[in-house]
Amino acid sequence: MTREQELDGALQRVRGRVADAARAADRDPDEITLVVVTKFFPASDVRLLHDLGVRDVGENRHQEAQAKVEEVGLGDLRWHYIGGLQSNKAAAVASYADAVHSLDRAKLLRGLSRGALEAGRVLPVTVQVDLDPRHAGGPDGIQDDGQGGGRAGALPQDVAALAAQVADTEGLELRGVMAVAPLDADPVEAFRRLQRVADEVRREHPGATWISAGMSGDLEAAIAFGATHVRVGGAVLGERPSRG
Ligand SMILES: *Cc1c(COP(=O)(O)O)cnc(C)c1O
Repeated sequence: MTREQELDGALQRVRGRVADAARAADRDPDEITLVVVTKFFPASDVRLLHDLGVRDVGENRHQEAQAKVEEVGLGDLRWHYIGGLQSNKAAAVASYADAVHSLDRAKLLRGLSRGALEAGRVLPVTVQVDLDPRHAGGPDGIQDDGQGGGRAGALPQDVAALAAQVADTEGLELRGVMAVAPLDADPVEAFRRLQRVADEVRREHPGATWISAGMSGDLEAAIAFGATHVRVGGAVLGERPSRG
């Protein structure tokens, strides 16, 4: 089997899962965007995915993303930045990303804004929410692993203020919320909580309609609770290749 056939089969299975989950939730599958997370995989895979109709891809590390965007060079692909952000890299990310899902602190706004304005574009942004109930008491002890893993995100009680700051920042457009279900916790509970946070944000900002949630293992639960963007890596691309 060629790599293209392998990706084609996996993509069809994932699209089938998305459609089944949408129907089970009485939703239109067309309102759910499949973002294929291509981190760790080569530009050649991104091109094959494009041949198979994928237009939304996700990356979680700045250096890898920047290099891949250049190497792939396809203008009609949308690059979603979903990983941990450093404030000194934010402007660079804003220069090539078509959306940033992982905004989790106000410190990043200045750089993202500058990068978007310099590139002459308006950057869609979602606020990443930390859904881990063990963090609910406060930020003490939370460590961002810098990889877009389960530790990043604004605490639910801080999301409204951060969302308002995004909405007030030139060059940025508040699009909604994003989360990764916490490890060792029930994703159903997590995504139910995310939907409540999303509803609150949308009451203040009617354009903030995105809920970016759900990965290979839990996309059905996310779609049941309103996900508009599922971010799927392994179920499409397979095991991560080792880095040489
Ligand atoms: C890697 C990653 C994904 C995709 O995860 P899979 O389990 O491979 O589907 C989704 N979201 C974020 C933030 C990621 O870093």
